[in-house]
Amino acid sequence: MPAAWRPERVQVGEWRITALLDGTMRLDGGAMWGVVPKTLWARLTPPAEDNTIELALRPFLLERGDWKVVLEPGIGGHLEEKWRRIYALDRRTTLAFSLHALGLGPGDITHVVASHCHFDHIGGWLTRDAAEELAPLFPRAEHRAPAVEIEAAKSPDPARKGGYSPTNVRVIERAGLLRSYARDEELLPGLVAHEAAGHSDGVSVITVNEHGPGETAIFWADIVPTSHHVQPAYIMAYDLDVPRSYASRSKWLARAADEGWLGLFYHDSEHAFGRVTRASERYAFEALEGERQ
Ligand SMILES: [Zn+2]
Repeated sequence: MPAAWRPERVQVGEWRITALLDGTMRLDGGAMWGVVPKTLWARLTPPAEDNTIELALRPFLLERGDWKVVLEPGIGGHLEEKWRRIYALDRRTTLAFSLHALGLGPGDITHVVASHCHFDHIGGWLTRDAAEELAPLFPRAEHRAPAVEIEAAKSPDPARKGGYSPTNVRVIERAGLLRSYARDEELLPGLVAHEAAGHSDGVSVITVNEHGPGETAIFWADIVPTSHHVQPAYIMAYDLDVPRSYASRSKWLARAADEGWLGLFYHDSEHAFGRVTRASERYAFEALEGERQ
């Protein structure tokens, strides 16, 4: 997929949304599907011989007036070699590369917004400086993440440790660029973060133009990681609080389907955009192609 990457774009209210890419990774299909039997999930996301499935790392660029917001900055290039191998990380297309393809440099970005602080969602806001030290990739941007997630990333409890890297948060904090957000906070006009915990303790979905005229979009983060995870019970093994995850997923899937919201998908390797719809007692997914740039 990375070789064929081309930006795809939609307009939602006053916000122009472009799908970027910070590479792909592979995770065990069983972990991505939790208690769902393989006979079922293997039809939806066919695994390779080693049982892994391909996942995108897909940041989005949200533009309105002078604001240029990177939503979910990707995994970044600083994972240790051992972990790059384990995750089969392929970064032939990176966040910086995909912004460059749109004529933008790191200094043009005014805000970075993260749904939660797992390493595969925020590592991409770091780069290496001339002295090979980790530094903010976007030196002028205000970096926003849920308060609960910033604390979890800095001192994760043992059960949650695997998903976080304290460095990812500390480098941005030391640079004076980190600002936490509270649950249900409006980050910029028309951009609202709603806590939807369960996958992690502070993970949020981000809505775009929820109250404005015209359509609404929802960034699903890890609440609905791929377009196949649209049934409330399709909960990843990574979600540590399963009942809470079920409640969050049920609430937001119903709202998005009933109000016809456009979904933005972070990990889906094929679809950046699409709608969740009701199909009798279940949900279905309808892909939407953005305008190719
Ligand atoms: Zn996560």
